[in-house]
Amino acid sequence: LVSRQHHAGRSTVWVRGVPIGPDTFTFIAGPCAVESRAQTLEAAEMAKAAGATLMRGGAFKPRTSPYAFQGLGVEGLEILSSVREATGLPVVTEVVDARDVAVVAEHADMLQVGTRNMANFGLLQAVGESGRPVLLKRGMTATIEEWLMAAEYIAQRGNLDVVLCERGIRTFEPATRNTLDISAVPVVQATSHLPIIVDPSHAAGRKDLIVPLSRAAIAVGADGVIVDVHPDPESALCDGPQALLGADLRALAQAVRQLPPMV
Ligand code: PEP
Repeated sequence: LVSRQHHAGRSTVWVRGVPIGPDTFTFIAGPCAVESRAQTLEAAEMAKAAGATLMRGGAFKPRTSPYAFQGLGVEGLEILSSVREATGLPVVTEVVDARDVAVVAEHADMLQVGTRNMANFGLLQAVGESGRPVLLKRGMTATIEEWLMAAEYIAQRGNLDVVLCERGIRTFEPATRNTLDISAVPVVQATSHLPIIVDPSHAAGRKDLIVPLSRAAIAVGADGVIVDVHPDPESALCDGPQALLGADLRALAQAVRQLPPMV
């Protein structure tokens, strides 16, 4: 269902009126984690001012350590809904458990399945039945074929509104948290009709690499980027070192404008 054999052209996925697909370059930004209404609103306003048309923000955080901040859960979802009302930005947020799909879908415009859950087939089937578009991140140790098969699980449940997100894979290189597999973008586009965006924040884990990696994503023909922003990265409860501040975000927006997407 997700292959070019099934659908020859490239698809556009609409998220509450915002397109992600071949005719546009979609800029998604927001905090890694929802920490409070004030922090989320400030981050969303920064994102909007820089030209983002969708906001991200995690209410359920899949952390490597069980002792790390796990997110505000339903309270975080309510904050996201209220920030959408304040800013008009549709919300992309992660769901980590099939049992939470209904409540997350009540508040979110797009459901994110993160790298750690890419092969959680029960969750994939549940988001496939949610009626919401899905942002499916690549498993950090998954091949492209495995990732596309994960998308197939969602599509098989009747949901073809799936956007793929390359977010870096595990390699032997420790300079970045993961290695952004930029070649995944054209490889996926040759095989699948689904849109594909890039997450340089979670790939690199370092804010100084966000602009160059975003430029690479644009140059290679990605359909968008998703980046972390925080009004005060030093105090962030999650992934502060990769979060952009207003000035960095403006530099990124400029890079997005300067380098038009490939046709
Ligand atoms: C995220 O986007 O908040 C996240 C945790 O990303 P990933 O699943 O790619 O690590």
